[in-house]
Amino acid sequence: MIIDGKQLSAKLKEQMAEQVVELKAKYGRVPSLAVILVGENPASQSYVRGKIKACEVCGFESILITLPESVSEADLLAEIAKLNDDQKVDGVLVQLPLPKHIDEEKVIDAIALEKDVDGFHPDNVANLWLGKPCIKPCTPKGVMRMIEECGFNVAGANAVVVGRSNIVGKPMAKLLLDANATVTIAHSRTKNLSEVTRSADILIAAVGRPRMITADMVRPGAIVIDVGVNRDSETGKLCGDVDFEAVKDIASHITPVPGGVGPMTITMLMQNTIECFLNRVNK
Ligand code: NDP
Repeated sequence: MIIDGKQLSAKLKEQMAEQVVELKAKYGRVPSLAVILVGENPASQSYVRGKIKACEVCGFESILITLPESVSEADLLAEIAKLNDDQKVDGVLVQLPLPKHIDEEKVIDAIALEKDVDGFHPDNVANLWLGKPCIKPCTPKGVMRMIEECGFNVAGANAVVVGRSNIVGKPMAKLLLDANATVTIAHSRTKNLSEVTRSADILIAAVGRPRMITADMVRPGAIVIDVGVNRDSETGKLCGDVDFEAVKDIASHITPVPGGVGPMTITMLMQNTIECFLNRVNK
């Protein structure tokens, strides 16, 4: 069965749009997300367009700030400070990656914790790992929502996450652990990767290598979630980390690329914006 991220996202955004009408009636304003885009990286531009569009669909206010590639770190930090102070702004997001002369860590640290809709702020990360209330990073949160859609009991299941980045692999493992899965994190130094992946009831690929998860690496009946977004070097088309055509006949559930985790990531960003809005108005 294919888990259609686009369809699920559309349903969740529709629900949020209804919720936003109620929020407006109750609090006199709608959630507001500010997005800062530095430079002209086409992929970043496209992600940002998607985020602004999703704000429209959900009935949020959005603020888009575009800064030139040459912007200084100080000027970018000043923009963030302004948004942090703006009482009408609930979420602040700086689209990554940033140009090399800007320290990404410093920029993420500068976002007010209460407006950290991406869940990347170090205090948010600490709270996630300590099991305290926090804003969960969008991609892993979206993956958990997709697994929920399968109606599968995660508790006690073997979950394997391939990839250990701070934005996907590590928080993914923590969310699965929180759902009581037995979690293995694999990476570029993992020995006998196929053996490890074949032990998975739930297999998450977050690597960034086109179609590296082949059919022989998947246990029949496993749930396979493909986070990867890659360009096929021959066709130029988007593809995931999983060899979708071969694996779809083996997995019980699988996500496509495009139309899988990608749309869910943006939808979870909208949910996080509502969460930040509610935390702020109820403070
Ligand atoms: P990173 O490059 O930060 O991390 C990749 C991870 O994969 C690393 O931990 C690396 O291991 C591991 N890895 C690399 N090669 C292998 C290998 N041969 N075998 C096993 N593990 C390997 O990537 P991200 O986590 O940021 O992103 C992963 C993918 O997900 C990308 O394609 C990205 O575009 C996509 N993505 C998609 C999103 C969405 O919304 N759909 C959101 C974010 C990312 P090591 O640590 O040892 O180097």
